Amino acid sequence: EVRVRFAPSPTGKLHIGGARTAIYNWAFARAMGGTFVLRIEDTDPTRSTEENTQIILRAMRWLGLDWDEGPEAGGEYGPYTQTERLDTYREALEKLKAEGKVYPCFCSKEELDAKRAAAEQNGQAYCGYDRTCRDIDPEEAQRRIDAGEEHVWRLKVPADHGPIEFEDAVYGPMQFPADVMDDLILVRSDGSPTYNFAVVCDDANMRITHVIRGDDHLSNTPRQILIYEALGYPTPTFAHLSMILGGDGKKLSKRHGATSVEEYRDRGYLPDTMVNFLALLGWSLDGETTIIPRDVLCREFSLERITKKDAVFDETKLNWMNGQYIQHMGASEWLKAARSWLVQAGATEADIDADPERFMKMYALVAERLQRFDELPEKLAYLFWGPEVTLNEKSVKKVLLKEGARAEEALRAARDIIADESIAWECDPLQDTVRGLCEKLDMKAKFVFQPIRVAVCGNMVSPPLFESVELMDRADVVARIDTTLK
Ligand code: GLU
Repeated sequence: EVRVRFAPSPTGKLHIGGARTAIYNWAFARAMGGTFVLRIEDTDPTRSTEENTQIILRAMRWLGLDWDEGPEAGGEYGPYTQTERLDTYREALEKLKAEGKVYPCFCSKEELDAKRAAAEQNGQAYCGYDRTCRDIDPEEAQRRIDAGEEHVWRLKVPADHGPIEFEDAVYGPMQFPADVMDDLILVRSDGSPTYNFAVVCDDANMRITHVIRGDDHLSNTPRQILIYEALGYPTPTFAHLSMILGGDGKKLSKRHGATSVEEYRDRGYLPDTMVNFLALLGWSLDGETTIIPRDVLCREFSLERITKKDAVFDETKLNWMNGQYIQHMGASEWLKAARSWLVQAGATEADIDADPERFMKMYALVAERLQRFDELPEKLAYLFWGPEVTLNEKSVKKVLLKEGARAEEALRAARDIIADESIAWECDPLQDTVRGLCEKLDMKAKFVFQPIRVAVCGNMVSPPLFESVELMDRADVVARIDTTLK
């Protein structure tokens, strides 16, 4: 059975790179009928906060990345938060002590720094620890520990260990010489586990079969393999993901704009868009398909189709893709997603609840015009102005003033049609009657419709006119025209 995990450190928000890692693990679990585990790696107390954990969980939920085991979900290999697993690391250390695979190291930071500086001065490469404490007699070591001397626990990397090799599912065969591996620290002087030690203990205890993570962890992998070997656990399959670059070819960072999932949510991207878009940053279905709904992703995702080429975050493509998802989501889904943005446009929650149909009809006004929901308040604000109209000066000049008397004549006649209670308050009868007016006045439709559009919507560029008008109140529309005519 495939068991994968996403293991964020709650030192900040869920950023784009982390979200991609989460998506790959989730999609792989789903495609393989496996289990997706969420684990919170909070062993760095200075940088981890409960608030960040909550922000990450919220972002995961927003993206729709449901986890089978983890915080809140529970599971048989819990707890799923590292600070609640400290006894398991202690146990693992005891096991390694009993087998003579670790040793206490009493070297102080100052001593180690001095050695490093000396080595550098002599032009020698100083890689890691020189193993000073490795050969201290165990009884003496125990005496020093009992006397309260500060110490860390280091892994005794076998002296005759050959190169560390593994087959990365993305990068292919990897090889690291074992002699550059220092006897890495597993447990710090305060008793806390190092990152590498905790990760290996957890992955082993949680029966993780595939470790899919960012390639910033590639250099940790040989060290972790040494720990697996010492503990006698099988190593999982590793798949390291290439970097995500900004448009300028540099590693994606704050300089490029939004970096957290939350920021994308707040700019009006849909979770479906984000999952699809991020999935394609380093993976492809067939090299060409761009719209890949999540059910397809969950069926088709495979490690074989992950590329080791760095991925480029293309915001233009993201906007286009979001537009595609908006265009195809349908009115009721749209209303759910648009709700808060409609409130920003001027609607009230009560209005929406009282007449959801009316708000669903607004979908047709923007479905093909919207790339991001944060464009919606400005685009639809005119629907909620009531009897007021905010006239765009440029539009007034171009449409009302330039045509002068003709425009005014058309607008007066149209006003009477719109005010006529005997005409049903629906797009078609209103529009047809105004078309009849064009013939009567012997004016091109454009010269009649544009003045109405400006008088009612304030602007000559607005969504379809009478489709909008029917969603407003008759008296309000008449009032707006009257104001404009004055
Ligand atoms: N907690 C690590 C991070 O947030 C991930 C560890 C791992 O995936 O092995 O970078």
